[in-house]
Amino acid sequence: MAHSCCVLMGVSWWSQFKFILQCVVVLLQTEYTHACGTSGTGDLLLCRSCGHEIAPESDASFVYSRLALSQRNNTVFGKKRVPVQLFENPQGYQFEVLTLKKADVRKHWPAEKHFTWFPGHSWTIATCPRCRAHLGWAFQPSDWPSTVTSQQFEDSQQTFVALIIHRLLREHVASSLLVTPRSFKS
Ligand SMILES: [Zn+2]
Repeated sequence: MAHSCCVLMGVSWWSQFKFILQCVVVLLQTEYTHACGTSGTGDLLLCRSCGHEIAPESDASFVYSRLALSQRNNTVFGKKRVPVQLFENPQGYQFEVLTLKKADVRKHWPAEKHFTWFPGHSWTIATCPRCRAHLGWAFQPSDWPSTVTSQQFEDSQQTFVALIIHRLLREHVASSLLVTPRSFKS
């Protein structure tokens, strides 16, 4: 009787141990998923006007300009620290921009060489392909022809875009803004 009792206690102990082990595994998996989800690599940048997907956040790539009035680490973009730079145009309007390797924006050639914020690069206006909102500028080497094809622009490692920070929205933030209509609540 005592022997079988010990066996039962042993089984019980083992079951409990297995249960605790499973809990730890689930907890670790949850933590891992959470960490990956907030690392900033998987989020999208959207057009603030219409929600069009402009670029993955991971395409942000800092291009230094000595003509920037100031530079700061952007906190809007989650945990990934992406420096944004402040520029002023000849009319005196200031824009805080984020540089990206590429983005789904419409470029309006021919490119302009004057009043560039990135010496050695000429610029075109960049707009949202869906709602046509002005999102920023696209930059290409100034010794290029003033008009190139989208394919040439996309294929080059020497091109980049500078987008106005407050005209973009993170997908993560956008989804948190969604509110369940009252009619769906009991
Ligand atoms: Zn748009």
